[in-house]
Amino acid sequence: MRFGNKGSEKPGLQLEGGKRVSIPESFGDYDEAFFESGGLSRLSEWAKSEGEAAPAIEDGLRIGAPLCRPSKIICVGLNYSDHAEESGMEEPKEPVLFFKATTSYQGPYDDLEIPAGSVKTDWEVELGVVIGKRAKQVSKENAFDYVAGYVLHNDYSEREWQLERGGQWVKGKSADTFGPCGPWLATKEDIPDPGNLSLWLKVNGEAVQNGITSNLIFDVPTLVSYISKYMTLLPGDLISTGTPAGVGLGFDPPRYLSSGDLVELGIDGLGTQTQMAVSGIDADL
Ligand code: ZN
Repeated sequence: MRFGNKGSEKPGLQLEGGKRVSIPESFGDYDEAFFESGGLSRLSEWAKSEGEAAPAIEDGLRIGAPLCRPSKIICVGLNYSDHAEESGMEEPKEPVLFFKATTSYQGPYDDLEIPAGSVKTDWEVELGVVIGKRAKQVSKENAFDYVAGYVLHNDYSEREWQLERGGQWVKGKSADTFGPCGPWLATKEDIPDPGNLSLWLKVNGEAVQNGITSNLIFDVPTLVSYISKYMTLLPGDLISTGTPAGVGLGFDPPRYLSSGDLVELGIDGLGTQTQMAVSGIDADL
């Protein structure tokens, strides 16, 4: 986990008993170099011997995104058949990939800013996969060797900008605050089977998404292998694996977020998030 104000978060750790502690500065932050140099296993060793005696994180500190801003956020579209259907699209034969700007990335409890001019801001609870080791053209069989762990991610989407304005989906996926991550990274040892996790999302207390990752069309090892064929995945990169049915676009009539709405979401073992929707500041366009 990472704690502190936006832009000055410090890395920490939640121990198995739930205690949250700060870690020695010598570990650095949770960035590409940390994962590339085997930081997770060093941290695990440290936690076993020193964790309980480490200074506790003070209560009330903001929880930031659990990793430094990644080099890439690669999203997978239409990866649950019920969501493909509600979107009026065919189930894909190969993974549908798109990028999300890394400037959308933020903490799990930060406000969602509905961008100026948006009328179709929508939610998407997703299992995020964090890369632990540089991955270039890796096989499905070896794919888990390249995974550090998993995070909860809300892939906020502006549907008009994504679907009605031509070009790539990236326009509707990339506004500031559109990528809340966390509250923590669970290591792959913590989550031995990412293919059997429940995921859910509520808007103003009403359950709208209820899915399970066993319904993924393309599972975690397939995605890591597939994406690594086309680009090198760096340690700390995030793959967001797609969302199940129940997004606002799928309602009849569609439902979108407006200022004052409260969004809550969670995945087994990956914690929960809460975002309050607020109006973004009018840009000088
Ligand atoms: Zn998505």
